[in-house]
Amino acid sequence: LTTFTDEARIALDTLSGRATGLFSPSLRLGVTGLSRAGKTVFISALVHNLIHGGRLPLFEAQKSGRIARAFLEQQPDDAVPRFQYEDHIAALVNDRAWPDSTRAISELRLTIEYESASGWSRMFSSGRLSVDIVDYPGEWLLDLPLLGKSFADFSHEAFEMAVLPVREDLSQAWRALSAEIDPNADADEMTARRLAESFAAYLKACKLDERALSTLPPGRFLMPGDLEGSPALTFAPLVGIGDKRPRPGSLHAMMDRRYEAYKTHVVKPFFREHITRLDRQIVLIDAMQALNAGPGAMADLERAVTEILSCFRPGRGSFLTDLFSRRIDRILVAATKADHLHHESHDRLQAIVRRLADRAVAQANFTGADVDVVAMAAVRATREGTVKQGRDTLPVIIGTPIAGEKINGETFDGKTETALFPGDLPENIDAVFDISGADHKQDSADPAIRFVRFRPPKLERTAEGVTLSLPHIRLDRALQFLIGDHLA
Ligand code: GDP
Repeated sequence: LTTFTDEARIALDTLSGRATGLFSPSLRLGVTGLSRAGKTVFISALVHNLIHGGRLPLFEAQKSGRIARAFLEQQPDDAVPRFQYEDHIAALVNDRAWPDSTRAISELRLTIEYESASGWSRMFSSGRLSVDIVDYPGEWLLDLPLLGKSFADFSHEAFEMAVLPVREDLSQAWRALSAEIDPNADADEMTARRLAESFAAYLKACKLDERALSTLPPGRFLMPGDLEGSPALTFAPLVGIGDKRPRPGSLHAMMDRRYEAYKTHVVKPFFREHITRLDRQIVLIDAMQALNAGPGAMADLERAVTEILSCFRPGRGSFLTDLFSRRIDRILVAATKADHLHHESHDRLQAIVRRLADRAVAQANFTGADVDVVAMAAVRATREGTVKQGRDTLPVIIGTPIAGEKINGETFDGKTETALFPGDLPENIDAVFDISGADHKQDSADPAIRFVRFRPPKLERTAEGVTLSLPHIRLDRALQFLIGDHLA
């Protein structure tokens, strides 16, 4: 009987997303993106705007006054850390500082009480939707392709990527160390550690480099979560192993075994427990940083988005297809931080992101889910103005640069506002993606956009002394696409 009840409960849980009446329907919204893409800021701003009735004209349910209230509830998964919404909002609103970024998976349940738009639905619908927001590092997602790859494939590809012109210099120390090591020698913990550390240092250097290179697996080497320093992360690709079976007791055998353990104990459970249960997904990208770094970085970002999309809809016949209990039916690719540009450039940024997403969809052979794009700012840290320069009137953005930021030799103290002409995005979209002949190092010497980090905005108060919600750009458009239809 127990088994039967358990199974029935699982079946009901799965159905609850679409059920009406008996349960409060729930929608699992995944929020991902590579580190610093803007996940924490996005979730905080989304929740804050819904709870505080923010200005969201493109979010239909809010605009038509059908949302009675939105509030936080206990999340359904007790074993997953809670997204620390209150801490993040305190940083943003009280301290005007950016919150701590995502380092591992976390979850938050936001429940919305609303009135259905049609009288017919009103009779049957509970008028309640629980949105389970799941925040997780994109780096972890990019591990999925490893499941289909042997240690030999992984090694081969890692070395192939490492000698590409954009990575060659960054990977040099690791490649040199690898070349000295005989994979067939006896397994040795210290050698394994040296190799793993050197490989991890190279992956991290790619991330920190101004070329804004996207990520290579294994994702936990960059975002270890609670696995920091554990033996599961003490492996590295090996050079010159071909497709040979490793000799038992060799370094090759040891690395191969640890790689397989990483897949079984880290990658698979993450997918099974989290990714396969999602209904909707937003993928945040730092397009601005990539644009500034040049076509090489754009190509790299495109590759990352392609791989991310492939993770959500693994090809037919893939063993992963069986893992998916739900189907992700909408994916939004969002370039955030658009407040670094004047609004005249927002459409251009969106067009660039659309081109990037279209190319990624085509390459990933991706079908079945609606993919849309948006250029947005989850938190708008700037306002707009104009500055006269001779006879010209230039559109500028105005904000408070973070203490220590520099523009034209001037260092800011974190208190002073400044007006900045951010520059224009290139009109010719093809040029943005054209890697032929572009020297990546020269690109970054002449960035398209003048970029400085601004502090979060000072919130306005109404005459009654009520603090208004966080200002944004097109956050409402993102919300409409991600959850609007569930509130119809
Ligand atoms: P995560 O690693 O994806 O969680 O990234 P965060 O959400 O922590 O964002 C990383 C940094 O990007 C923040 O500290 C901010 O400096 C910046 N940022 C993120 N979103 C915005 C935005 O909407 N506007 C502006 N101006 N900066 C943003």
